[in-house]
Amino acid sequence: MYRAFKFRLYPNKEQKILINKTFGCSRFVYNYYLSKIKNSKYINAYTNISDYVNELKYIYPFLQEVDSIIIRKSIFHLDDNIKKCYNHHFGYPKYKNKFNRNSYMTNAIYKDYKDKTYCNIEIDLVNRKIKLPKLKWISIRGYRNTKEINGKIINATISREITDKYYVSVVFDMPDIINKELIPRNIIGIDIGIKKLLTLSDGVTFDNNKYILKYEKRIKRLQRCLSRKERKSNNYYKYKEKISILYSKLKNARKYYLHNITKKITDEYDIITCENLDTKNMIMRKKLSKNITDASFSEILRQLAYKSNYKNKYFYQIDEYYPSSQKCNHCGNIDKRYKDIKERTYKCTKCGNVIDRDLNASLNICYEGLKLYMKGLYR
Ligand SMILES: [Zn+2]
Repeated sequence: MYRAFKFRLYPNKEQKILINKTFGCSRFVYNYYLSKIKNSKYINAYTNISDYVNELKYIYPFLQEVDSIIIRKSIFHLDDNIKKCYNHHFGYPKYKNKFNRNSYMTNAIYKDYKDKTYCNIEIDLVNRKIKLPKLKWISIRGYRNTKEINGKIINATISREITDKYYVSVVFDMPDIINKELIPRNIIGIDIGIKKLLTLSDGVTFDNNKYILKYEKRIKRLQRCLSRKERKSNNYYKYKEKISILYSKLKNARKYYLHNITKKITDEYDIITCENLDTKNMIMRKKLSKNITDASFSEILRQLAYKSNYKNKYFYQIDEYYPSSQKCNHCGNIDKRYKDIKERTYKCTKCGNVIDRDLNASLNICYEGLKLYMKGLYR
């Protein structure tokens, strides 16, 4: 099983220069071959890759300063994009500029020497540092309580955000978890929504924290300002940059917060059930057109799924057409009025049950989860 660990990188001055040079070189190689293709004909990277690499290194000696794998990667990347364009009707590749995402990936290479295996990427979690090709050791932060990762390094991606923060994402091949049959102690249903981010069927709720709300508010305000600026003017770009910095901050704040929540849930509960949010998302998108919340929803589900998996918990997603918010959790009566998200309290017309709307939905989801678990037992 592959698992990625993302650390904040703290490169020194020289390392920063080299990282940025590598971004530039990878862009340069990409654009160089793109113009070649545009001017002559399709190059097949998969048959002649070493020729291309040697040619480039000979003509442009500065490419020898950086991690050599990025030359190959860039050419393959371009080749894939061209193929995608012809086979799947994607757009024709465009030249890259420095406003594109800044990142490069490097592969782990293993070599044996005197009964010992050496790798060009090493990670030392006791002293909090990582060794990367050409860059040597760099300080890292993240996963405070992890002192060792039991797995084989596959690759590492170095990236820089618009806020000038550096990150490295290291992919490990981890030994598969032997699935011990867990006897669940408890069960939880989770309703994901806009008014309240998460409502658990035991009454616990999680809301967006104040940092996330603060950034969202600021982004909205700046976007209104931006719409009043003349397009492509100096001011316009200034605001655009401000907004993308805030987006990056929001993304990080949200990710950190969601990791916190999903860790708590997957630690505490053994059977976890959520909705499948594809259709719900669509309804909400029409009404609120908030891509911000959309991103949170899918991120929560992604995190719950993989964390349940490696903690050996049961994770279910119920059918997307299941009317969790219209059904009374007490008598099962279905009331179509609650399809609309305005009403906050569920009042059952049949049995008189009065309950918070999200809590009612989460209880229904919980029952469905139990059904799915039982089905698995008696298969
Ligand atoms: Zn009822």
